[in-house]
Amino acid sequence: MDLTSLTIPELRRKLSTGAARPREVVDQLAARIAAVDPKLKAYLHLDAEKARAAADSADTTLPLGGVPIAIKDVINVQGDPCTCASKILQGYVAPYDATVITKLREAGAVLFGRTNMDEFAMGSSTENSSWGATRNPWDLDRIPGGSSGGSAAAVGGHEAFAALGTDTGGSIRQPAALCSCVGVKPTYGRVSRYGLVAFASSLDQIGAFTRTVEESALLLEIIAGHDPRDNTSIDRPVPKYTQSLGQGVKGLKLGVPKEYFIEGIDPEIEKSVRAAIDEYRSQGAEIVEVSLPHTKYAVAVYYIIATAECSANLARFDGVRYGKRAQHPKDILDMYGRTRAEGFGAEVKRRIILGTYVLSSGYYDAYYNRAQKVRQMIAEDFRLAFEQCDALLTPTSPTAAFRLGERTQDPLQMYLADIFTIAVNLAGICGVSIPCGFTSGKLPIGLQIIGPKWGEETMFRVAHAFEQATPWHKEKPPI
Ligand code: GLN
Repeated sequence: MDLTSLTIPELRRKLSTGAARPREVVDQLAARIAAVDPKLKAYLHLDAEKARAAADSADTTLPLGGVPIAIKDVINVQGDPCTCASKILQGYVAPYDATVITKLREAGAVLFGRTNMDEFAMGSSTENSSWGATRNPWDLDRIPGGSSGGSAAAVGGHEAFAALGTDTGGSIRQPAALCSCVGVKPTYGRVSRYGLVAFASSLDQIGAFTRTVEESALLLEIIAGHDPRDNTSIDRPVPKYTQSLGQGVKGLKLGVPKEYFIEGIDPEIEKSVRAAIDEYRSQGAEIVEVSLPHTKYAVAVYYIIATAECSANLARFDGVRYGKRAQHPKDILDMYGRTRAEGFGAEVKRRIILGTYVLSSGYYDAYYNRAQKVRQMIAEDFRLAFEQCDALLTPTSPTAAFRLGERTQDPLQMYLADIFTIAVNLAGICGVSIPCGFTSGKLPIGLQIIGPKWGEETMFRVAHAFEQATPWHKEKPPI
């Protein structure tokens, strides 16, 4: 019996009735990884023995009892490496569990493997990993998206049932779209960031990759909630997201923002997303056109705010406390300088330099302050749009997966990969990408469903209604 392609609820039924044992699940997953990961390179680290031991003691009566979950290499799991795919953290071992990890453990999950990513989560293709790029399970010559490309490729490539990732400007939703997964970015403050290595603290959220909407709803139910150790996490009850599924979309108003169907979007993507909108109409949703007039500023604003925050957050990697330290320094400045010069990759350096610049005296008002004001206007666009509708429907990414190397020499082209996802982070609201079709070259296409702050229940309900009526999530990659 092949267990690796089961959904989590299917797997849970087998485990809780004793039809399968948690150790068998780990064994099968490890065998699948041994067979395909040399090609996909989704995992950076896997301690199968440790996972087996955890599986043997798993309580199969718990909601995730015995279910292996892969973790992006930016979230601390005590005793595991946590490199953020950066040379500067080579050899670093996490001294404690992130809150999401504690919650997964309490739910009975088996922590399983560390997934590849763009260095410090900066990128859209996973090519910025210091340990080599991950491939797309649908086409090995193409990127899986990023920055959580390892998590997306692992779930899309059936090397994991589910994985955690992080989304600062699209890093869960965009790779989910490119690898035919469900990927959810919760409302800012919904999930604790304690134990997540910070990139841009006002934008970062942890979320899940799964193969179905129900599984994403289940995982969010488990990892969400207030945490006194993250003072941006909000004290609000966590709804039972899985119970809001199955209600259909009749009577809901779904908004289509006109600014999201722009020049440059691949016509095949537009066609699939328009077909998805028609599907919702035929299910009884009312479709309304809405406008988000400040959308055109989102990428620029993001690359000011995210770089400013990263320049501050990454100051701690100076050779003193964490990871790598340059050898035989002349003096302390030489030690700081060479540690960072040797430890960080090109994109991380570019961001630190940009961020330092926009925060520097004389430029702070012109760039950083102004970007904060425009960020408020972007958030206000969404607030007004949600007065007219319950959720928004957009493409997740303007193109399907591109070829490895195609955009590495052109950072601006790379930045445009997140043009449809970034505004959601700036506004602090929630979004999910679900499979909605394939290009003629059989590359996955994602539909993004955006909800207002704390609108996850409706967002999942809308996502589920489409999934149940369409075959896309059932397709398996050729690998
Ligand atoms: N691709 C965007 C960036 O490079 C978003 C990354 C993310 O969400 N972590 O910053």
